[in-house]
Amino acid sequence: MATTRFAPSPTGGLHLGHALSALTGHEIARRHDGRFLLRIEDIDATRCRHEFETEIYDVLTWLGLNWEAPVLRQSEHMAVYAAAARRLDALGLLYPCFATRAEIQAAARPGATDPDGAPLYPGLQRNLPRDEIAKRKAAGQSFAIRLDMHRAIAAAHAKAGAAAFGFDELDGETGVRRVPIDPARWGDVIIQRKEVPTSYHLSVVVDDARQGVTLVTRGADLRPATDVHRLLQILLDLPEPMYLHHPLLTGPDGRKLAKTSAATSLAEMRSAGLSPADIRRLIGLETGTAA
Ligand code: GLU
Repeated sequence: MATTRFAPSPTGGLHLGHALSALTGHEIARRHDGRFLLRIEDIDATRCRHEFETEIYDVLTWLGLNWEAPVLRQSEHMAVYAAAARRLDALGLLYPCFATRAEIQAAARPGATDPDGAPLYPGLQRNLPRDEIAKRKAAGQSFAIRLDMHRAIAAAHAKAGAAAFGFDELDGETGVRRVPIDPARWGDVIIQRKEVPTSYHLSVVVDDARQGVTLVTRGADLRPATDVHRLLQILLDLPEPMYLHHPLLTGPDGRKLAKTSAATSLAEMRSAGLSPADIRRLIGLETGTAA
């Protein structure tokens, strides 16, 4: 029995790529007599909007999806993520970083980027002396909390061994393959942002575990992030789910939909008269599957 989930961020309208993620998880849960959960990833109060959350519920209902209540809204669970961060801190793996984006950009090695294309954090403040940290905090300087990646990898190795450094990926629902992870390519990732006591990486692993998710279905753009997620699961003693990363849909310009500003939202497609069956056809899912 699989427990799957769809975890959108209400920062814009859902598009065809989201429909593929949601329907993939929903269909697998339905076919295997499993559970399908919806999680609203709204940790970023500056970018999330209530109307987009409403649109998520409307559009998913229109597509024929149903999910278990209650919906988990991440903004309501900050204390849980903060507690997980404290556990990592107790392992001696976290440190505060006061650097601004511009300072990081200026110090980064030219051309060195993380898998998202952002400048690779050059370790600027990994070893700030204690009194310097105290002074900056006392002066009210804002800081993010970063994971010391090398120490984290060493700690995870000591804990679980090299065999744990991989994830099982479902391949077209037929085969399962073990994919090795290389979290070092992300550098010292942020665990708690300057404005929020969590980050995408931390909250996603905490929630997948406490919601009992056994199969994470999402687009291939998030595949590299799974390296960080597995590492955090090892360090936090969380169960290892299986993963399915579906290929990304591309827009008319050949770029992935998520990054294409012209991506038409599902709500707009519905207003233009398209049906849920049309959406399924457009994303390459068969229509009329037995209920
Ligand atoms: N909230 C993320 C997004 O909308 C997806 C998270 C996930 O599926 O792991 O891109």
